[in-house]
Amino acid sequence: MTQSLTFLAVHAHPDDEASSTGGLFPLLRDQGVRTVLVTCTNGECGDDPAGNKPEHDEHDGDAVAALRKIELEQAVSILKIDRLEMLGYRDSGMDGWEHNNDPRSFWQTPVSDGAAALLKILREERPQVIMTYNDFGFYGHPDHIQAHRITMEAIKQLDYEPTVYFNAIPKSVFKGWRDRMREEQEANGDELDEGVDFGTDDADIAVAVDVSATTPLKFDALSAHASQITEDSFWMKMGKERFTQTMNTEWFVRATNPLGLEGVATDIFAGYR
Ligand SMILES: [Zn+2]
Repeated sequence: MTQSLTFLAVHAHPDDEASSTGGLFPLLRDQGVRTVLVTCTNGECGDDPAGNKPEHDEHDGDAVAALRKIELEQAVSILKIDRLEMLGYRDSGMDGWEHNNDPRSFWQTPVSDGAAALLKILREERPQVIMTYNDFGFYGHPDHIQAHRITMEAIKQLDYEPTVYFNAIPKSVFKGWRDRMREEQEANGDELDEGVDFGTDDADIAVAVDVSATTPLKFDALSAHASQITEDSFWMKMGKERFTQTMNTEWFVRATNPLGLEGVATDIFAGYR
C-alpha cells in the first residue's frame, strides 16, 4: 500500500506519552509513519518545583504546568513526534481529590467539548490508527477516563473508521514485575507493597510490539519528565541498561476493528501496510 500512514495517541498528562508509548512513537517514526500526540491536560496536579504535593496549601499548579510543558516538549523531541497538540485542560487529580470538582478541570469539561477539540485535529490528520485508554482509564484516573470518552465520541463523527487501540499490560507481565519488586523489597528489608490485581487478561492482547530498538529513547523521554519521574521512581531506579532489557514490549487491545483483524499482531499498523 502506498497511502501515507499516521498514528495519533490521545494521552491524559505530560509523561503518559513516554510511559505507555515511548517505544512505539520513535519506532513508527523510523518506519516512516507520521506521529501525532494529543495531550489533554497540563498536569497541574503533579509535584511542584518546590516539591509540594497538590494537597499542600502552597502548591503552585500553574508553575507545575509551565515546567511540565518544557519537559513534555523535550520528551516529544526525544521520541521524534511530528506534532504535539495540548488541549490545555486543567488536571483533575486522582479520583476523589477536590480538584475533580474544579470547573476548569478536564473531568468537569463536557465530553462533547473535548471531543470537538480532538475532532478538529483528527480531521486534519486522518490517522488510520489511534491509541488511547480503556473506559477505566487504564487505572481509574479521571483524566484518563475522560481521554477515553472524548476519543470514542470524536471518532463517531469522522467520515471514516480508524482502528482504535487501548494501551495494556498483560496480567502475566504485571505479576512478573510485582514479584521482582517484592523480592527486592524483601532483600532490602523494606516494607512490602500490597499486591494489587492489575492488568489485562493475556488472551485479550491484540498487539504486542517489540520496541527494543527504541527502549533507550523511552528511558530518555521518561528522564525528561524529571519533575514527576524522580530518581527514586521504579523506572529510574532500574537504570537505563536494565530498563532497556526489561521494558522491550508495548501491548495494546483492539477497541475498534474496521479491517476485521484477528489474532495477535506485532505491528500496530497491521492491515494497513
Ligand atoms: Zn496520566
